[in-house]
Amino acid sequence: MTATLDAAARRALIETTAAAVISRADELTALDQAIGDGDHGLNMKRGFEAVLAELDAIAGKTLPDGLKQIGTTLVMKVGGASGPLYGTLFLQLGKSLADVAPDAVPSRAALAAALEAAIVAVKARGKSETGQKTLLDVLTPVQAALAGGADAAALVESAHTAAAATVPMKAIRGRASFLGDRSIGHMDPGARSSEILITAVAGFATANGASA
Ligand code: ADP
Ligand code: MG
Repeated sequence: MTATLDAAARRALIETTAAAVISRADELTALDQAIGDGDHGLNMKRGFEAVLAELDAIAGKTLPDGLKQIGTTLVMKVGGASGPLYGTLFLQLGKSLADVAPDAVPSRAALAAALEAAIVAVKARGKSETGQKTLLDVLTPVQAALAGGADAAALVESAHTAAAATVPMKAIRGRASFLGDRSIGHMDPGARSSEILITAVAGFATANGASA
């Protein structure tokens, strides 16, 4: 068991997470081709390649400052709606985790509170709510599961189930909402990218002996 998240571990976490998103770019693009403009995979790939280009600098910072730098990079490098939204998510996670001791793994309570605050910030940025067929439809149930004590495997399952649950939903926000009822029957691309991010982080936590 390790309770530390030192620079080497932060580096590995960022690398794993970015690689997961980049490796699924084609799938995210295909999902966005069905109900959007087909750029979500490229947007996310570009954003996380930019994060990887700053890997040493980000890992060398404290966890909160590193998260804020990831947020700023995503805002600057990701085109489309998802850049400012994911950027806001990471910026707020960094702000909320400001009190975590250097190189410490944040507690479940701290992570749950940070994700809750980040979801509030994304909602404000997107003028959106859970239930509108967006990435919020994955983030919200996963936050609830985290707050409720779910382990890493259960968080992954929650994210997977929640992404699949966007298929029958009608899009109310984002480009997909332009399609109205024709958005029904397709998974939301942002819901899938959130699932990929959560799965990568949970997998890293499991591999490194964390409890969540
Ligand atoms: P764009 O829609 O500008 O082409 P992307 O394709 O990169 O940007 O991202 C689309 C994803 O962003 C959607 O699948 C959805 O999950 C998310 N999204 C779009 N608008 C909003 C919003 N207002 N609130 C929350 N999420 C949103
Ligand atoms: Mg798009």
